Amino acid sequence: DEEVAEYSRGLAIRVSGLEVPRPIKLFEDCGFSAQLMGAIGKQGYQKPTPIQCQALPIVLSGRDIIGIAKTGSGKTAAFVLPMIVHIMDQPELAKEEGPIGVICAPTRELAHQIYLEAKKFAKPHGIRVSAVYGGMSKLEQFKELKAGCEIVVATPGRLIDMIKMKALTMLRTTYLVLDEADRMFDLGFEPQIRSIVGQIRPDRQTLLFSATMPRKVERLAREILTDPIRVTVGEVG
Ligand code: ADP
Ligand code: MG
Repeated sequence: DEEVAEYSRGLAIRVSGLEVPRPIKLFEDCGFSAQLMGAIGKQGYQKPTPIQCQALPIVLSGRDIIGIAKTGSGKTAAFVLPMIVHIMDQPELAKEEGPIGVICAPTRELAHQIYLEAKKFAKPHGIRVSAVYGGMSKLEQFKELKAGCEIVVATPGRLIDMIKMKALTMLRTTYLVLDEADRMFDLGFEPQIRSIVGQIRPDRQTLLFSATMPRKVERLAREILTDPIRVTVGEVG
């Protein structure tokens, strides 16, 4: 309606897709648990950033999303917070192996930043996060994955190495995030991304974030997302 349109315009949010959930104004509008609200407060986040205002209700409703917003706009929490809810909503899966949420990022530095942010929100819930990227011993990583985790944050190359070593399977993965998709393509990870996506069940929820949308990334998004909603914030895209 007109009020929603005006609110979105004010935040420089543009959306396309079917039946787009209305943007939220406060974290309180998300229905988060007291524990998660506590972790958000502890981070010093008082209110959601524009991409969070529109992405959180979309992702929490289970929809696939293409999120396009510049660096520093708060995309990490936009996919990490709903991931915690997604994992807490799972029926008892303790006997099964492998991560429920998988996040791929282009570089070890970015993956490490996401790992740190994910851990802050995951830890109070007893959710285990594993980091899978270069610069750490493969044996240590192998052991950590074998011990089990609910979330993996990875660079594509190292994740494939770990899958080949049978450190993990993605049989129970239902939430996949491709962060900085354009940079992953620039770094030549398209084949690795396709291989990873091909090993995850098709009824997963898929989130793709990017600062820009080159044609190659657009093509991948069309292939691997289901009825996505596209959210663009600001002058990018
Ligand atoms: P992006 O992935 O879009 O580049 P980040 O997720 O790395 O952005 O967030 C950029 C910075 O903003 C980080 O320091 C993060 O802690 C902070 N941040 C994220 N969400 C909020 C919020 N709602 N309120 C205040 N700061 C936030
Ligand atoms: Mg980011």
